[in-house]
Amino acid sequence: MQKGKNLKIIIVGPQGSGKGTQAEMIATEYKIANISTGVMFREAIKNQTDLGRAVQSIMMQGDLVPDKLTNELIKERLGKSDCKKGFILDGYPRNLAQAEYLLAIHNISHIFEIWVSDKEAIKRISGRRMCSCGMTYHLEYNPPKIAGVCDRCDGRLFLRDDDTEEAVKQRLKIYHQETESIISFFEKKGIHYRINGEQKIPNVYKDVNKILNKILNDNKKKKQTRY
Ligand code: ADP
Ligand code: ADP
Ligand code: ZN
Repeated sequence: MQKGKNLKIIIVGPQGSGKGTQAEMIATEYKIANISTGVMFREAIKNQTDLGRAVQSIMMQGDLVPDKLTNELIKERLGKSDCKKGFILDGYPRNLAQAEYLLAIHNISHIFEIWVSDKEAIKRISGRRMCSCGMTYHLEYNPPKIAGVCDRCDGRLFLRDDDTEEAVKQRLKIYHQETESIISFFEKKGIHYRINGEQKIPNVYKDVNKILNKILNDNKKKKQTRY
């Protein structure tokens, strides 16, 4: 069996909790598709598509893009062949309506909630630097080897347009008002795992990995006893 075949993961947490950083590590190790709605919207803005034009001002204010547009984008993305190997969703679902929509079109194996305080989240976002290849750095906590240059692709690092103090505050407010409600929704389904995000990046990953490995091993054992 391919390593990540049955992994259909959601990663959720406040802005700056480290979702993107962890999602990249999980997707690379388990060879699953890494899907971030934020990255897809930013691509659409960069390429000046109809979708990009429709979402640009909403994103700059830190508000949520309407569910209809977001759900359609995800449905199309999850239909692509690379998702058959498994996937990790970063930044989706972000409210109950999106969670219900997702479960109507796909089953989910795990939801990892990366917990950090708002104080830590704000500290992290202020030092965040991104690369268009999907890598994320932090000026102090996770700097690239050469300042301003991506370790993986040599691309120039940039600051996100919506990482302004005002937009971040608005995004955190929406996180607590709307997104947190999806946690109890998935908790009831028994697939929710809470991870302490206020540890060093490799230690957060270790905690996530422990859970993923246990489940993959349990699945293997179940298979072995069946035959
Ligand atoms: P962050 O987690 O730091 O807010 P993201 O990259 O996940 O950043 O999202 C950036 C912006 O893209 C959001 O503020 C929102 O405008 C839009 N967005 C991303 N995902 C969704 C979603 N699932 N539903 C609605 N809007 C979204
Ligand atoms: P999110 O996707 O949840 O918004 P990111 O993965 O973009 O979060 O991380 C936000 C910032 O914090 C980035 O600059 C990243 O390098 C840094 N970061 C991520 N995880 C940690 C951690 N465990 N400790 C310190 N800094 C971190
Ligand atoms: Zn890069």
